[in-house]
Amino acid sequence: MLALRKLAPTPGIALCDAPEPGAPGPGEVLLAIGAAGICGTDLHIADWTAGYEAMTAAMPVTLGHEFSGRVVAAGAGVSALAVGTRVVARPSVVCGVCASCRGGRSQDCMARTGMGVGCNGGFAAQVVAPAENCVAVPDGLDDALAALTEPMTVCAEAVDTAGVQPGDTVLVIGPGTIGQGIALFAQAAGAARVVIAGRDDAARLATLRALGFPDTVDTAGRSLSGALAAAGLPSRFDVVIEAAGVPALVPEALELLALRGVLTICGIHARPAMIDLTKLVRRHQQIRGSYRAPLETWPRVIAFLAADPQRMRLLISEAVPLADAVAAFARAKSRTASKIMLLP
Ligand SMILES: [Zn+2]
Ligand SMILES: [Zn+2]
Repeated sequence: MLALRKLAPTPGIALCDAPEPGAPGPGEVLLAIGAAGICGTDLHIADWTAGYEAMTAAMPVTLGHEFSGRVVAAGAGVSALAVGTRVVARPSVVCGVCASCRGGRSQDCMARTGMGVGCNGGFAAQVVAPAENCVAVPDGLDDALAALTEPMTVCAEAVDTAGVQPGDTVLVIGPGTIGQGIALFAQAAGAARVVIAGRDDAARLATLRALGFPDTVDTAGRSLSGALAAAGLPSRFDVVIEAAGVPALVPEALELLALRGVLTICGIHARPAMIDLTKLVRRHQQIRGSYRAPLETWPRVIAFLAADPQRMRLLISEAVPLADAVAAFARAKSRTASKIMLLP
Protein backbone atom coordinates (compact mmCIF):
# COMPACT_ATOMS: atom_id res chain seq x y z
CA MET A 1 0.00 0.00 0.00
CA LEU A 2 1.04 3.63 -0.53
CA ALA A 3 2.45 5.16 2.67
CA LEU A 4 4.27 8.32 3.69
CA ARG A 5 7.27 7.09 5.65
CA LYS A 6 10.44 8.10 7.39
CA LEU A 7 13.13 5.77 6.12
CA ALA A 8 16.34 7.07 7.71
CA PRO A 9 17.53 9.47 10.44
CA THR A 10 18.30 12.23 7.93
CA PRO A 11 16.15 15.04 6.47
CA GLY A 12 13.39 13.83 4.14
CA ILE A 13 10.23 11.78 3.83
CA ALA A 14 9.30 9.15 1.26
CA LEU A 15 6.04 8.29 -0.41
CA CYS A 16 6.60 4.59 -1.01
CA ASP A 17 5.12 1.12 -1.05
CA ALA A 18 4.77 -0.33 2.46
CA PRO A 19 3.57 -3.78 3.53
CA GLU A 20 -0.10 -4.00 4.57
CA PRO A 21 -0.41 -4.40 8.33
CA GLY A 22 -2.22 -7.75 8.15
CA ALA A 23 -4.62 -9.18 10.71
CA PRO A 24 -4.92 -7.40 14.07
CA GLY A 25 -3.53 -9.18 17.15
CA PRO A 26 -5.34 -9.68 20.47
CA GLY A 27 -6.80 -6.40 21.71
CA GLU A 28 -6.13 -4.68 18.39
CA VAL A 29 -8.22 -3.44 15.48
CA LEU A 30 -7.36 -2.94 11.84
CA LEU A 31 -8.46 0.50 10.66
CA ALA A 32 -9.08 1.76 7.13
CA ILE A 33 -7.86 5.36 7.35
CA GLY A 34 -10.39 8.03 6.38
CA ALA A 35 -8.27 11.16 6.81
CA ALA A 36 -4.98 12.08 8.51
CA GLY A 37 -3.77 15.58 9.31
CA ILE A 38 -0.28 16.99 8.77
CA CYS A 39 1.04 18.37 12.06
CA GLY A 40 4.01 20.53 13.06
CA THR A 41 5.52 17.38 14.56
CA ASP A 42 5.47 15.75 11.12
CA LEU A 43 7.27 18.77 9.66
CA HIS A 44 9.94 18.52 12.38
CA ILE A 45 10.35 14.80 11.67
CA ALA A 46 10.58 15.48 7.92
CA ASP A 47 13.24 18.16 8.48
CA TRP A 48 14.89 15.94 11.08
CA THR A 49 15.23 18.68 13.71
CA ALA A 50 16.67 17.67 17.09
CA GLY A 51 14.45 15.79 19.53
CA TYR A 52 13.21 12.83 17.47
CA GLU A 53 16.33 10.62 17.58
CA ALA A 54 14.46 7.94 19.54
CA MET A 55 12.33 7.08 16.49
CA THR A 56 15.39 5.90 14.54
CA ALA A 57 14.94 2.35 15.88
CA ALA A 58 11.41 2.22 14.41
CA MET A 59 12.44 3.12 10.84
CA PRO A 60 11.13 2.56 8.24
CA VAL A 61 7.98 3.91 9.90
CA THR A 62 4.73 5.35 8.53
CA LEU A 63 4.06 8.87 9.82
CA GLY A 64 0.69 10.41 10.76
CA HIS A 65 -0.67 10.60 14.32
CA GLU A 66 -3.87 12.63 13.74
CA PHE A 67 -6.23 10.28 11.95
CA SER A 68 -9.73 8.91 11.69
CA GLY A 69 -10.78 5.57 10.28
CA ARG A 70 -13.19 2.68 10.17
CA VAL A 71 -12.78 -0.68 11.86
CA VAL A 72 -12.34 -3.37 9.20
CA ALA A 73 -11.23 -6.24 11.45
CA ALA A 74 -11.04 -6.82 15.19
CA GLY A 75 -8.57 -9.09 17.00
CA ALA A 76 -9.28 -11.57 19.77
CA GLY A 77 -10.85 -10.11 22.88
CA VAL A 78 -12.17 -6.96 21.18
CA SER A 79 -15.89 -6.71 21.89
CA ALA A 80 -16.57 -2.97 22.13
CA LEU A 81 -15.75 -2.10 18.52
CA ALA A 82 -17.83 -3.76 15.82
CA VAL A 83 -16.55 -3.94 12.26
CA GLY A 84 -17.73 -0.80 10.48
CA THR A 85 -17.47 1.49 13.52
CA ARG A 86 -15.99 4.89 12.65
CA VAL A 87 -13.33 5.93 15.15
CA VAL A 88 -10.46 8.23 16.00
CA ALA A 89 -7.44 6.72 17.73
CA ARG A 90 -5.38 8.23 20.50
CA PRO A 91 -1.85 7.80 19.12
CA SER A 92 -0.14 7.07 22.47
CA VAL A 93 0.33 3.31 22.78
CA VAL A 94 0.96 2.80 26.49
CA CYS A 95 2.73 -0.01 28.34
CA GLY A 96 0.02 -0.81 30.90
CA VAL A 97 2.55 -1.83 33.54
CA CYS A 98 4.51 1.29 34.63
CA ALA A 99 3.58 3.22 37.80
CA SER A 100 1.63 5.86 35.82
CA CYS A 101 -0.37 3.24 33.86
CA ARG A 102 -1.13 1.22 36.98
CA GLY A 103 -2.13 4.43 38.77
CA GLY A 104 -4.75 5.23 36.11
CA ARG A 105 -2.68 8.03 34.54
CA SER A 106 -1.79 6.33 31.27
CA GLN A 107 -1.30 9.75 29.62
CA ASP A 108 1.86 9.95 31.73
CA CYS A 109 3.17 6.48 30.71
CA MET A 110 6.96 6.51 30.74
CA ALA A 111 7.26 3.75 28.13
CA ARG A 112 4.74 5.03 25.58
CA THR A 113 5.16 4.71 21.83
CA GLY A 114 3.48 7.19 19.55
CA MET A 115 1.66 5.88 16.48
CA GLY A 116 3.06 7.80 13.52
CA VAL A 117 6.36 8.41 15.34
CA GLY A 118 7.62 5.29 17.15
CA CYS A 119 5.36 2.85 15.28
CA ASN A 120 3.25 2.99 12.12
CA GLY A 121 0.64 5.75 11.84
CA GLY A 122 -2.11 7.02 9.59
CA PHE A 123 -0.46 8.28 6.40
CA ALA A 124 -1.45 5.02 4.66
CA ALA A 125 -4.60 3.16 3.69
CA GLN A 126 -4.53 0.95 6.80
CA VAL A 127 -3.07 0.79 10.28
CA VAL A 128 -3.37 -1.50 13.30
CA ALA A 129 -4.23 0.24 16.59
CA PRO A 130 -4.96 -0.92 20.13
CA ALA A 131 -8.75 -1.14 20.51
CA GLU A 132 -8.53 0.68 23.85
CA ASN A 133 -7.11 3.72 22.01
CA CYS A 134 -10.14 4.03 19.73
CA VAL A 135 -13.07 6.33 20.40
CA ALA A 136 -16.21 6.12 18.23
CA VAL A 137 -17.29 9.23 16.34
CA PRO A 138 -20.86 10.23 15.39
CA ASP A 139 -22.06 10.13 11.77
CA GLY A 140 -22.37 13.93 11.73
CA LEU A 141 -18.60 14.22 11.96
CA ASP A 142 -17.00 13.33 8.61
CA ASP A 143 -13.52 11.78 8.33
CA ALA A 144 -11.61 15.04 7.93
CA LEU A 145 -13.38 16.76 10.83
CA ALA A 146 -12.93 13.67 13.00
CA ALA A 147 -9.18 13.73 12.27
CA LEU A 148 -9.06 17.12 14.05
CA THR A 149 -9.77 15.34 17.34
CA GLU A 150 -6.15 14.62 18.33
CA PRO A 151 -4.84 18.19 17.88
CA MET A 152 -8.01 19.58 19.49
CA THR A 153 -7.45 17.42 22.60
CA VAL A 154 -4.03 19.11 22.90
CA CYS A 155 -5.83 22.49 22.77
CA ALA A 156 -8.48 21.50 25.32
CA GLU A 157 -5.74 20.26 27.66
CA ALA A 158 -3.84 23.57 27.31
CA VAL A 159 -6.94 25.57 28.26
CA ASP A 160 -7.67 23.19 31.16
CA THR A 161 -4.03 23.47 32.32
CA ALA A 162 -4.15 27.27 32.08
CA GLY A 163 -7.32 27.29 34.20
CA VAL A 164 -9.15 29.81 32.02
CA GLN A 165 -12.05 31.30 34.01
CA PRO A 166 -15.22 33.06 32.81
CA GLY A 167 -14.43 36.72 32.17
CA ASP A 168 -10.68 36.20 31.64
CA THR A 169 -8.69 38.12 29.06
CA VAL A 170 -6.57 35.56 27.20
CA LEU A 171 -3.61 36.02 24.85
CA VAL A 172 -2.75 33.13 22.52
CA ILE A 173 0.73 33.30 20.96
CA GLY A 174 0.93 31.26 17.76
CA PRO A 175 -1.90 31.15 15.20
CA GLY A 176 -1.44 27.60 13.88
CA THR A 177 -3.96 24.80 14.38
CA ILE A 178 -3.05 24.49 18.07
CA GLY A 179 -3.42 28.25 18.62
CA GLN A 180 -6.72 28.19 16.71
CA GLY A 181 -8.06 25.38 18.88
CA ILE A 182 -6.85 27.07 22.07
CA ALA A 183 -8.77 30.19 21.08
CA LEU A 184 -11.91 28.08 20.55
CA PHE A 185 -11.63 26.24 23.88
CA ALA A 186 -10.72 29.44 25.79
CA GLN A 187 -13.85 31.06 24.40
CA ALA A 188 -15.88 27.97 25.34
CA ALA A 189 -14.46 28.22 28.88
CA GLY A 190 -15.95 31.70 29.12
CA ALA A 191 -13.03 33.99 28.28
CA ALA A 192 -14.33 37.52 27.79
CA ARG A 193 -11.71 38.35 25.20
CA VAL A 194 -9.27 36.19 23.23
CA VAL A 195 -6.42 37.91 21.40
CA ILE A 196 -4.20 35.91 19.04
CA ALA A 197 -0.69 36.90 17.96
CA GLY A 198 1.33 35.59 15.04
CA ARG A 199 4.38 36.68 13.10
CA ASP A 200 4.28 37.02 9.33
CA ASP A 201 1.29 34.72 9.46
CA ALA A 202 -1.48 36.43 7.44
CA ALA A 203 -3.24 33.25 6.23
CA ARG A 204 -3.58 31.63 9.63
CA LEU A 205 -4.61 34.89 11.34
CA ALA A 206 -7.29 35.25 8.64
CA THR A 207 -8.53 31.77 9.58
CA LEU A 208 -8.88 32.96 13.18
CA ARG A 209 -10.90 35.99 12.11
CA ALA A 210 -13.13 33.70 10.02
CA LEU A 211 -13.60 31.58 13.17
CA GLY A 212 -14.94 34.68 14.90
CA PHE A 213 -11.86 36.10 16.64
CA PRO A 214 -11.47 39.71 15.45
CA ASP A 215 -8.58 40.53 17.80
CA THR A 216 -5.52 39.28 15.93
CA VAL A 217 -2.09 40.91 15.64
CA ASP A 218 0.85 40.24 13.34
CA THR A 219 4.14 41.06 15.06
CA ALA A 220 6.23 41.13 11.87
CA GLY A 221 8.76 43.94 12.30
CA ARG A 222 7.74 44.88 15.85
CA SER A 223 7.48 43.60 19.39
CA LEU A 224 4.43 41.79 20.72
CA SER A 225 3.61 44.64 23.11
CA GLY A 226 4.12 47.16 20.31
CA ALA A 227 1.77 45.25 18.00
CA LEU A 228 -0.91 45.03 20.73
CA ALA A 229 -0.64 48.76 21.47
CA ALA A 230 -0.83 49.67 17.77
CA ALA A 231 -4.03 47.63 17.44
CA GLY A 232 -5.58 49.19 20.56
CA LEU A 233 -5.65 45.81 22.30
CA PRO A 234 -5.09 45.11 26.03
CA SER A 235 -1.56 45.19 27.46
CA ARG A 236 -2.34 42.87 30.40
CA PHE A 237 -3.79 39.37 30.26
CA ASP A 238 -5.08 37.04 32.96
CA VAL A 239 -3.84 34.07 30.96
CA VAL A 240 -1.23 33.75 28.21
CA ILE A 241 -0.99 30.48 26.28
CA GLU A 242 2.08 30.00 24.11
CA ALA A 243 1.88 27.72 21.05
CA ALA A 244 4.66 29.09 18.87
CA GLY A 245 7.82 27.39 20.15
CA VAL A 246 9.82 30.65 20.12
CA PRO A 247 11.88 30.93 23.34
CA ALA A 248 12.39 34.71 22.98
CA LEU A 249 8.62 35.20 23.35
CA VAL A 250 8.54 33.72 26.86
CA PRO A 251 9.97 36.80 28.67
CA GLU A 252 7.76 39.03 26.47
CA ALA A 253 4.71 36.95 27.42
CA LEU A 254 5.52 37.36 31.14
CA GLU A 255 5.62 41.15 30.70
CA LEU A 256 2.07 41.00 29.33
CA LEU A 257 0.80 38.74 32.10
CA ALA A 258 -1.25 40.17 35.00
CA LEU A 259 -0.26 39.81 38.65
CA ARG A 260 -1.00 36.21 39.66
CA GLY A 261 -1.51 35.38 35.99
CA VAL A 262 -0.73 32.00 34.42
CA LEU A 263 1.52 31.47 31.40
CA THR A 264 0.99 28.04 29.84
CA ILE A 265 3.60 26.73 27.41
CA CYS A 266 2.56 24.31 24.65
CA GLY A 267 5.21 24.95 22.00
CA ILE A 268 8.22 22.71 21.45
CA HIS A 269 11.28 24.89 21.92
CA ALA A 270 14.63 24.13 20.30
CA ARG A 271 16.49 26.27 22.86
CA PRO A 272 16.08 27.29 26.52
CA ALA A 273 14.31 30.57 27.35
CA MET A 274 15.80 33.32 29.55
CA ILE A 275 13.39 34.65 32.16
CA ASP A 276 13.67 37.13 35.05
CA LEU A 277 12.71 34.97 38.03
CA THR A 278 12.68 37.84 40.54
CA LYS A 279 9.99 39.61 38.49
CA LEU A 280 8.09 36.32 38.29
CA VAL A 281 8.20 35.99 42.08
CA ARG A 282 7.20 39.58 42.83
CA ARG A 283 4.31 39.38 40.37
CA HIS A 284 3.28 36.02 41.81
CA GLN A 285 3.02 34.60 38.28
CA GLN A 286 2.98 30.92 37.31
CA ILE A 287 4.42 29.09 34.32
CA ARG A 288 2.85 25.74 33.43
CA GLY A 289 3.61 23.20 30.73
CA SER A 290 0.86 21.35 28.86
CA TYR A 291 1.25 18.39 26.52
CA ARG A 292 -1.15 15.51 25.87
CA ALA A 293 -4.65 15.08 27.22
CA PRO A 294 -6.06 12.12 29.15
CA LEU A 295 -8.37 9.77 27.26
CA GLU A 296 -11.38 11.24 29.14
CA THR A 297 -10.89 14.45 27.15
CA TRP A 298 -11.43 12.71 23.79
CA PRO A 299 -15.25 12.24 23.92
CA ARG A 300 -15.64 15.86 25.11
CA VAL A 301 -13.60 17.11 22.15
CA ILE A 302 -15.53 14.91 19.70
CA ALA A 303 -18.79 16.40 21.03
CA PHE A 304 -17.31 19.90 20.69
CA LEU A 305 -16.40 19.28 17.03
CA ALA A 306 -19.77 17.66 16.28
CA ALA A 307 -21.69 20.57 17.82
CA ASP A 308 -20.67 23.02 15.07
CA PRO A 309 -19.18 21.16 12.08
CA GLN A 310 -19.53 24.18 9.78
CA ARG A 311 -17.36 26.35 12.01
CA MET A 312 -14.84 23.55 12.67
CA ARG A 313 -14.39 23.01 8.94
CA LEU A 314 -12.66 26.42 8.87
CA LEU A 315 -9.75 24.77 10.72
CA ILE A 316 -9.06 22.63 7.62
CA SER A 317 -7.48 24.57 4.78
CA GLU A 318 -7.42 21.68 2.31
CA ALA A 319 -7.86 17.94 1.92
CA VAL A 320 -5.70 16.25 -0.73
CA PRO A 321 -4.95 12.67 -1.79
CA LEU A 322 -2.10 10.92 0.02
CA ALA A 323 -0.30 10.74 -3.34
CA ASP A 324 0.13 14.56 -3.15
CA ALA A 325 1.63 14.45 0.34
CA VAL A 326 5.12 15.75 -0.47
CA ALA A 327 3.80 18.99 -2.00
CA ALA A 328 1.28 19.30 0.84
CA PHE A 329 4.13 19.12 3.38
CA ALA A 330 5.84 22.02 1.58
CA ARG A 331 2.65 24.12 1.79
CA ALA A 332 2.20 23.27 5.47
CA LYS A 333 5.77 24.35 6.15
CA SER A 334 5.29 27.68 4.35
CA ARG A 335 2.44 28.58 6.78
CA THR A 336 0.20 29.51 3.84
CA ALA A 337 -2.10 26.71 5.00
CA SER A 338 -3.58 25.81 8.37
CA LYS A 339 -4.42 22.11 8.78
CA ILE A 340 -3.97 19.98 5.65
CA MET A 341 -5.72 16.62 5.58
CA LEU A 342 -4.32 13.71 3.59
CA LEU A 343 -6.88 11.27 2.23
CA PRO A 344 -5.45 7.76 1.69
ZN1 LIG B 1 -0.01 16.57 16.00
ZN1 LIG C 1 3.00 2.82 31.13
